[in-house]
Amino acid sequence: MLTRRCIALYSGGLDSILAIKILQDQNIDVVPLNFYSPFFGSEIIRDPESYKAHHLKTFGIAVELLDYTPEIVQIVKKPKYGYGKHLNPCIDCKIGMLKKSKALMETLGASFVVTGEVLGQRPMSQRREPMNSIERESGLHDILLRPLCAKQLPPTLPEREGIVNRELLGDIVGRGRKDQITLALSYGIAKDKIPSPAGGCLLTDEQISLKVRNTYERLDPKLPAEADLMLDIAGRQFVLDARTILVVSRDEDENRLLSSLVYAGNIFLKIADVSGPLAVVRGDFSPDNLRKAAAICLRYGKARGLQGHKALFGPDPFNMTESIDSPAVSDEYCKTFQIDTLK
Ligand code: SF4
Repeated sequence: MLTRRCIALYSGGLDSILAIKILQDQNIDVVPLNFYSPFFGSEIIRDPESYKAHHLKTFGIAVELLDYTPEIVQIVKKPKYGYGKHLNPCIDCKIGMLKKSKALMETLGASFVVTGEVLGQRPMSQRREPMNSIERESGLHDILLRPLCAKQLPPTLPEREGIVNRELLGDIVGRGRKDQITLALSYGIAKDKIPSPAGGCLLTDEQISLKVRNTYERLDPKLPAEADLMLDIAGRQFVLDARTILVVSRDEDENRLLSSLVYAGNIFLKIADVSGPLAVVRGDFSPDNLRKAAAICLRYGKARGLQGHKALFGPDPFNMTESIDSPAVSDEYCKTFQIDTLK
């Protein structure tokens, strides 16, 4: 017996907002689930309540949050369906989210699952063949509904059973956004509140993918922890030795982001008495590594090139109590610690 309740994968992007709106319009009770990780939803890791409040206020969507970090960390290591252009294992990632959703269906009283996928929109996961694989492997055969492009696909069980009116579902295909924007405006979403297409998953970013790949290789055979990956998504990165990473902020926003990364095993560092970047060291805190970190940090601050400075460091970014010499070093010295392609 089908219920009028479903789970929706909610990324916060326009397509997933619209998929939910289309069903809510048909009086379907939708439970929006946001699967977050350092690669997508790092803002949720830092402040989940603000994220929920923003999406409720702006789009009227009361989202439930699910930590997908353990799953995506495994998936990135060895995806069955491979990677997209960079380190994005989209097909495996979608399958994993849908499997998790399926496991929650009974508890939530939901009888089908909804996504904002659009046929032909993405080269890896939104072509007909991978969309079929995703449906099959997630165990959601016949109960996975894609409302934006449903009329391009065979009718699903909730459509055939009359729970969802197929006539009111979408017929959108391809990469354009014109139809979605028209639909968004018709739902009363202000033009300046429509999420931009960019800024989604960081695994589709070339530079971040390089850093993440390096992190996996550096920590192998162990898998990276959330703390390792959060350091791959912000700041200028330096590999101090086979076990140790340094990240130096590039602006005020990154200062704020780095100062929020209070994880066991992170040490914060900044040059004493002058304004400049905040840095995080993770790995081996030997005096040699801390001195290297202090030297690099000095290079990117106001006291660049000046001898005689010290760096403060400690596990609390707002109360660093230890200090170490910070020698002035050349640009070339700093560059020797950057991953080749990031120099
Ligand atoms: S873009 Fe990122 S979040 Fe989206 S399916 Fe691909 S790997 Fe997953």
